[in-house]
Amino acid sequence: MSSHSKLDKQIFEEFSKDWTNLLVESELLLENNDKEEFLKDNNFIVNKTQKGIDKIVKVKQRVNQNLFRKMVLSNYNETCAICNLNHPKLLVASHIMPWSKNEKERLNPHNGLCLCSIHDKSFDIGLITIDKNLELLISNELKQIKNDSIDNYFNIYEEKELNIPKKFYPSIEFLQYHNEHIFLGA
Ligand SMILES: [Zn+2]
Repeated sequence: MSSHSKLDKQIFEEFSKDWTNLLVESELLLENNDKEEFLKDNNFIVNKTQKGIDKIVKVKQRVNQNLFRKMVLSNYNETCAICNLNHPKLLVASHIMPWSKNEKERLNPHNGLCLCSIHDKSFDIGLITIDKNLELLISNELKQIKNDSIDNYFNIYEEKELNIPKKFYPSIEFLQYHNEHIFLGA
């Protein structure tokens, strides 16, 4: 095992214990950064004023969001799990259960899907969902529209299985939540 994949393994094991317990330290480990340098690069000024504390919270949030994105994109080989689009700038680490509904799971990669912007938005507002067999379902609202774009972006993927992730499968529990509470219905 290379030192890089050892590091990966160590990080993933750490995450699997507690998805919210990663913060700055894991990012340091990933990037092999020096802590002082990292803090300086991120304008991370430690002081005891409220402003300083707010800043620390913001930096941690940004680090976490970056890390979640990295994990999710890498889990799907930087490819949309539905349509295979693979330009990183057009990819989103989408949450299955919206993080506003469950903050505890917002960094859990089992709650993440790598989707292109179109499929992320459609998933987010319930125009599509993924069922427990990891197949794409399309809402009536979309199906009622008859045109080539809808066919090309959605209908051709109906009931097709998602791309298989490398490590973290989407959690059935989170998918069920999406099917029941966010999906607009077939
Ligand atoms: Zn896509």
